[in-house]
Amino acid sequence: MISVSQALQILDKNIPQPRIIKLPLNEAYDRYLGEDILAPEPSPRYTNSAMDGFAIRWQDCVHASAAGPISLDIIGESQAGIPFAGVVTSGTAIRISTGAMLPEGADTVIRVEDTNEKDGKVDIQVAPTLGIDVRIAGEEFDKGDLLFNHKQHLGTRELALLAAVGIYQVPVYDQPTVSLLVTGTELAQPYDSDILPHQIRDSNTIMLETGIAEARARLSVSMQVEDNLESTTQAISAAVARDDDIVLCSGGVSVGRHDHVKEAAQEAGFKELFWKIRQKPGKPLFVGKRENTLLFGLPGNPVSAFMCFSNYVRPVLAKLQGTDSIVKSITAKTLKQVSNSGKRTHFIRVTVEDKPSEIAVIKEMAQQGSHMLSTIVHADGYIILQPGEVLEPGSLTEVFLF
Ligand code: AMP
Ligand code: MG
Repeated sequence: MISVSQALQILDKNIPQPRIIKLPLNEAYDRYLGEDILAPEPSPRYTNSAMDGFAIRWQDCVHASAAGPISLDIIGESQAGIPFAGVVTSGTAIRISTGAMLPEGADTVIRVEDTNEKDGKVDIQVAPTLGIDVRIAGEEFDKGDLLFNHKQHLGTRELALLAAVGIYQVPVYDQPTVSLLVTGTELAQPYDSDILPHQIRDSNTIMLETGIAEARARLSVSMQVEDNLESTTQAISAAVARDDDIVLCSGGVSVGRHDHVKEAAQEAGFKELFWKIRQKPGKPLFVGKRENTLLFGLPGNPVSAFMCFSNYVRPVLAKLQGTDSIVKSITAKTLKQVSNSGKRTHFIRVTVEDKPSEIAVIKEMAQQGSHMLSTIVHADGYIILQPGEVLEPGSLTEVFLF
């Protein structure tokens, strides 16, 4: 058996190769960039006015004041979208709006509030500073400057900047595809009203389907598989043929006579990366690799399946999308002693009491059974305790939130 950290290291070395695809901006929200992005053009693209006012030659107005305004002939207008075609010469000005192109000859903008317009002339009432209220081409960034780093998250602001520089197809990490195979001859559907006394309602399917969606991966197939080697091998081989990034199996990875996932995976061409981790819950976790596909054999117990999904599968799905992790953790204080007297690493489910401006306080859930789904519903997250580790009351510890 290997340790939790060994398992994570092995997984890290065996992450499938991510796919980079190009998406239009309106589909790229919340994705991660597949490469660095250089500015294809400068910003601003052309020198323009920061204000509504008049574009002038600074030299003409250096002595202007409210008592002694300088009068200039208005010879035209530069509007946002309709530039002035001529040249501003000495003694002249043009009307200009915010964002409109600064015409040749002009070097300074006087805002409307500091002028007085009458009979085709404008009085400039302030002595301007050279270049005031002018936005120079390239002053924000130049063509070729680094705009974004590889793996940048694309939110609303980033998409706006890409649009502003004319990048409308962006290279982003593709969503990984996942085949979900839920094994168990004992399984009945949640909607089966004639469930037999020896049957179990399948709760892993909905849990893992929604977990996959929450991790922003794409579910390519979700199916139930009987506990026999042939159908399990067939189902895994079909996932291989679909070229999925991840094959996610539930159940059938222990040492029982009817646990076939491991053998079926090997028959379908997967090489074992590891089987069994010194952890509780989730000891029998199996992981195999075949070319660019990872197969996870989660234990069938719902809590074990969930914990293994959270701790091992979700980080892989995140890395395939260009981000390190989507798992949130906080530092919190234990109220009572928490200890692990066992021989395996324990994932201990806890509740978190979070008060504003105080360190959150955690309590160990009284029930930790790996078949008790209600316990993960009432828990807020989990802490990881090594064998022999004791947290005295008041200790600080890291809590991984669900
Ligand atoms: P297994 O890992 O297949 O030996 O299953 C371990 C335990 O989890 C058994 O009690 C199963 O009945 C239960 N179990 C397996 N699969 C599911 C499932 N999809 N939904 C709910 N319980 C399950
Ligand atoms: Mg089973």
